[in-house]
Amino acid sequence: MTAQLIDGKALAAKVRDEVKQEAAALTARYGRPPGIAVVRVGDDPASQVYVTSKEKTAKELGFGSWHHHFPATMTQGELLAVVARLNADPLVDGILVQLPLPKHLDANAVLAAIEPSKDVDGFHATNAGLLFQGRPGLVPCTPAGCMRMLQEIRYDVTGKRCVVIGRSTIVGRPMAMLLLNASATVIVCHSKSDVAAEVQRADVVVAAVGVSKLVKGDWVKPGAIVIDVGMNRGADGKLSGDVDFDAAKERAAWITPVPGGVGPMTIAMLMHNTVVAAKARR
Ligand code: NAP
Repeated sequence: MTAQLIDGKALAAKVRDEVKQEAAALTARYGRPPGIAVVRVGDDPASQVYVTSKEKTAKELGFGSWHHHFPATMTQGELLAVVARLNADPLVDGILVQLPLPKHLDANAVLAAIEPSKDVDGFHATNAGLLFQGRPGLVPCTPAGCMRMLQEIRYDVTGKRCVVIGRSTIVGRPMAMLLLNASATVIVCHSKSDVAAEVQRADVVVAAVGVSKLVKGDWVKPGAIVIDVGMNRGADGKLSGDVDFDAAKERAAWITPVPGGVGPMTIAMLMHNTVVAAKARR
């Protein structure tokens, strides 16, 4: 079997189109667009690329968009004061503090200071708690994008055995909760798990590990759905996923490529979250 590709680039474009229409409707109704503020501290080159891309997308979709960039010498108190100002700003519906922060800053304390209704990354304990309880809230963008991919191929996870590899707070855990809330049977693997044994029995595999080609093709159950969140930059500069794509595609029914799979979905879902936040706040 050769798997069908889940085209994240095309789906992200579709999500952006939907969001653009919703943003235009909000602007027409309330006289101002959804607004997102991105805070960046220091000069991490990858963060700069991500923030530029988020700002560009927000502008293309007709959002209000503000990029606050501060030197790496910024203090915790100064950063908390910026967050407090954005929390109080009625034009700002979404606040995103780009991680990683310089080492002397306490990222947990900064994320906790963001008003939960503006927490478009979905990292605040209030939003994590709502997800845990199966109640509506702002959901972390990458796992939300994975769920949207499953929806797009009309795959119903009800009762399916879904294996999530990775238990980070930004991908693995929220992914597991989203699948559980959708009535899947969920198994979460991590560095102490027998990953091969679990993958072999999985109807759906979501790999969010950060180890290139950890998931071997012959682990994949024939006909499974494989979603690869991994983004691993090799010594040759090439990007690879956590799944051995060439081998896995011979057994899976559907598979996401890297690049062009989950990656493009993340920013699209961030914009979706900003519209969700804007609607809830109006
Ligand atoms: P992370 O915080 O480093 O978490 C990695 C998880 O993988 C941990 O739970 C770890 O287990 C587990 N793990 C590590 N080695 C393992 C092994 N050999 N077998 C089984 N599990 C293992 O990473 P993350 O932030 O979740 O990101 C994961 C990957 O997704 C990275 O490649 C990252 O670049 C990518 N990512 C992509 C996007 C996107 O937009 N496409 C967004 C976010 C992240 P322990 O908990 O036991 O240590």
